[in-house]
Amino acid sequence: MDTPAAENLAAIRERIARAHERFGAPPEAVSLVAVSKTFEAEAIVPFLEAGQRVFGENRVQEAQAKWPGLRERFPDVELHLIGPLQTNKAREAVALFDVIETVDREKLAGILAAEMLQAGRKLPCFVQVNIGLEEQKAGIAPAETVAFVVRCRDVHGLDVVGLMCIPPDGVPPGPYFAQLAELGRQAGVARLSMGMSGDFEVGIAMGASDVRVGSALFGHRPPPK
Ligand SMILES: *Cc1c(COP(=O)(O)O)cnc(C)c1O
Repeated sequence: MDTPAAENLAAIRERIARAHERFGAPPEAVSLVAVSKTFEAEAIVPFLEAGQRVFGENRVQEAQAKWPGLRERFPDVELHLIGPLQTNKAREAVALFDVIETVDREKLAGILAAEMLQAGRKLPCFVQVNIGLEEQKAGIAPAETVAFVVRCRDVHGLDVVGLMCIPPDGVPPGPYFAQLAELGRQAGVARLSMGMSGDFEVGIAMGASDVRVGSALFGHRPPPK
């Protein structure tokens, strides 16, 4: 019998496939980033056993405690950093993660680039856009995004593959996702990381290449302590 993890995973993959098929938006495929933050290694294992390989974590320290051990058993895991990164954690982040989705300021771009050079690991990066211009959210302002992507590439040498956003709560996300897609076109990046448990189908309709799904896979998250 399938485990609940395998069932949830199959259900979400089915919804992704159906949304992608129905709306027919590029890109070719949508990658599911399973957001395992706050869940312990034992809760993550059933998803790995069910075949999921791409995971997202929002804290460097928490990921360091869980993933090296899991990686020994599942070496082909692809780990995305989806939370804010402090510059003093950049070295550890570069060592542990495979994709950095939260490049959100000039200083961080420079330090990440230096750490990647040092480590010999040129990681794909997303620029995080504060698409609703919300004070409490990280990200580059929409109006500055294209110029920032250019500087990340040309000044710092980062491999910017896409844009990422978290739209404001409590309002329809579609217009924000459409705006991110337009910024992606202007910046000349191929990937868009947009859509979470509550709105990933909307993200796909607007052209998401990566959706970040946590609670719909793992269940309700206990509030942070
Ligand atoms: C927690 C988190 C998610 C997943 O949220 P759910 O609503 O549980 O799917 C996605 N993206 C980011 C940046 C997050 O911090």
